[in-house]
Amino acid sequence: MNPIDDPRTFIFQVNPVGSIVFANDDWLAFGQENDSPMALESLLNTSLWESISDIETCHVYELLMEKVCQTHEHIYLPFRCDSASCRRYMQMEISCVSPELIQFKSWMLKEEKREPVTLLNSEAKRLDTFLTICSWCKKVQMEDKHWEEVEEAVKKLGLFSDMYLPKLTHGVCPVCKESILEQHFNE
Ligand SMILES: [Zn+2]
Repeated sequence: MNPIDDPRTFIFQVNPVGSIVFANDDWLAFGQENDSPMALESLLNTSLWESISDIETCHVYELLMEKVCQTHEHIYLPFRCDSASCRRYMQMEISCVSPELIQFKSWMLKEEKREPVTLLNSEAKRLDTFLTICSWCKKVQMEDKHWEEVEEAVKKLGLFSDMYLPKLTHGVCPVCKESILEQHFNE
């Protein structure tokens, strides 16, 4: 299948406290294709918050979930879900499908091949140091606190394939945070 024409929709649902109660086959298959295979049985009842490492991103998700529950609006958010060798531009729809059920549905908008970025290779050897990558746009936080596209960051930080790389931790960059909050909470 040509992934650019990937017609699948990736769905998972959580209850109001963030426990995963459902994931569809496409979502599970997508995890498998991207080196994070997860069986449905081991996924159910785990918390969405466990897979999000930083407090700011949790907070953004919490606000979005609260909002869809209160207003029954659907919220649409573009995000990146890159692998080492491609940039994936995806769209997420968050909606409240029943009073106790919040649904996250994602689909592919566009996929671009690139030279593999070893920093994003899940099999690369890792040091115990951390780099923060934005969950939404996949920019990397530099030492002086500004954020760079991953390819640029790799060049500037001199992270090459034959060395141990820092671990990645996910966060939200100020641009994405402001744009999400402004777009959805500024009425
Ligand atoms: Zn960002």
